[in-house]
Amino acid sequence: MSAPLFAGDVLFFQRLLRADGFYHDDLDGEWGPKTEKAAKAYDAAAQQIRSQTRTFDTRSEGCILTLSIAAQRRAREYLGKVLDGGVIARIISGTRTYAEQDALFRKGRFGNPQPRVTNARGGQSNHNFGVAWDIGIFTKAGGYLGEGPGYDKAAALGLPVAGGVIEWGGNWTGFVDRPHYQLALGLSVSELRQRFEAGTLDLGTF
Ligand SMILES: [Zn+2]
Repeated sequence: MSAPLFAGDVLFFQRLLRADGFYHDDLDGEWGPKTEKAAKAYDAAAQQIRSQTRTFDTRSEGCILTLSIAAQRRAREYLGKVLDGGVIARIISGTRTYAEQDALFRKGRFGNPQPRVTNARGGQSNHNFGVAWDIGIFTKAGGYLGEGPGYDKAAALGLPVAGGVIEWGGNWTGFVDRPHYQLALGLSVSELRQRFEAGTLDLGTF
């Protein structure tokens, strides 16, 4: 994540900064000196992590920058292992603010003609807290594969690297979500939301 990405939603950004331990002041939605300082520390941490791993394709890099620092580190480790194993994967989705999630929710509803893409409103998706990313599998020619064995191969390659700190949607019972990964917090979406908003989500152990 970087400051410009979330500067339009300061409260959301403060919550993300808090989860990673960069911001300890009021969650007030005001961009003051303490938020500025935390944002700079955050961007510096993202740069440092990036310098320690390879650089990925532009889309993956853009999505990784929307994640918490903890998730950035794990997503980079994960993607590196998947690519080393010969599976062509990219990270195609990262964090969505509540406003961005609400915009997605409106697709296909309220008279909007597009197909529906999500049942989650802002605060109801694992992607609203900086901890989750989705991958896509691609052919050598660059074609997107929405399903297929590549998703299982990617999980087999990438999951062990972080020693159990990543959870795969392909292992979920009920709604199986093979493109989906997140930090293994062991929290439901509503628990995640509660902690994220209260400023008690702690990603320091990841
Ligand atoms: Zn997902």
